[in-house]
Amino acid sequence: MSIHERYRLSVVINAKGTFTPLGVSRSSNGVAAAVAQALPEFFVMDELGDRASEAIAQVTGAQAGTVVHCTAAGITLSVAATMTGRDPRRIAALPDTTDMHNRVVMPASHVVDYGHSNLQGIRLAGAQVDLAGDETRCGIDDLEAELDGPDVCCLMLVSSRLTQGEPLDLVAAVRAAHRRGVPAIIDAAAQFPRIADLLATGADLVLASGQKYLGSPTAGLVAGTWALVQAVRAQEKGIGRVMKPTKEAVIGVLAALEEWQAFDRMKWEADELAKVVSFAAAAGEIPGVTAEVVPDPAGLQVSRVLLKVPDAKRLATELEAGTPPIYVMTDRVDDNELMVELVPLDETEINTIIARLWAILTQ
Ligand SMILES: *Cc1c(COP(=O)(O)O)cnc(C)c1O
Repeated sequence: MSIHERYRLSVVINAKGTFTPLGVSRSSNGVAAAVAQALPEFFVMDELGDRASEAIAQVTGAQAGTVVHCTAAGITLSVAATMTGRDPRRIAALPDTTDMHNRVVMPASHVVDYGHSNLQGIRLAGAQVDLAGDETRCGIDDLEAELDGPDVCCLMLVSSRLTQGEPLDLVAAVRAAHRRGVPAIIDAAAQFPRIADLLATGADLVLASGQKYLGSPTAGLVAGTWALVQAVRAQEKGIGRVMKPTKEAVIGVLAALEEWQAFDRMKWEADELAKVVSFAAAAGEIPGVTAEVVPDPAGLQVSRVLLKVPDAKRLATELEAGTPPIYVMTDRVDDNELMVELVPLDETEINTIIARLWAILTQ
């Protein structure tokens, strides 16, 4: 009996990307086996933390790393680390930030909602947010104006397709923070494959979700400087208690990082692109549909298919209402555009999507 049958759960086709309400991603059999091996065992958790740090450092090129519950937790705990360092008194005091620098500067265009607003993720640590620029544009001059204010603890940047307006030059933004002696953090939750590039901006910490493109169990990877990573780990004795990683998540991350290093990225990228190109060609044959291959706007090596259709809202509703339900990206539904991500899908699932598009659009 399948796990879906056993617990009376819907089987779905997820063409929406690494989407949390649908279970995010598929782990490999190797990762699943490592997790199953970990569950009945005891570990010295600090030792597991040290092995995770070594593995993250090796894969990303960072000085150190740590695993927290998820990236949303990583945002809160990274901000906390910039306010407290490793001072036990301050760590125990949070979210009371009396006598700490507690202002986080963030571009207004980097306010995103991945289920909750990242502003709340920051405020959970006890910090306050100073937004620079507006939703359409934040220049380095706007950032510098905010960074000049008192009590700034860090600059928070987001690398994601969810950010708005003109892209910000991340290298210049990190430099602006460093000129004022302020650490810079980049939330790159859905950009694990780019983590080394984002560290190369000079950022002090880069955050990525293991359960998104790494295919591990739910986990937030934090990679960066030795001192700040230790300050993140130290939050386990404070607000980090409610955001701790599980033993099986850390083992799953170790196994997934090992697989990541062993596998052929170039071949993977070529195979994924072939899937997308072939899907776009098949979808483009359907009357009334224009299908276009579009690259990830934030530079991730993942392409998606943009479908332009006469009534995108109705199409999305009917795709979700069918059996199995098919979920696609609907951010641009008001412009009659739907986006499809194929990374985790097999040939049967992809053929099902094409067949359903034909059925709905030509009925
Ligand atoms: C998914 C996402 C998060 C949250 O990551 P979790 O690991 O689910 O907590 C944060 N920021 C961005 C940009 C995201 O896409």
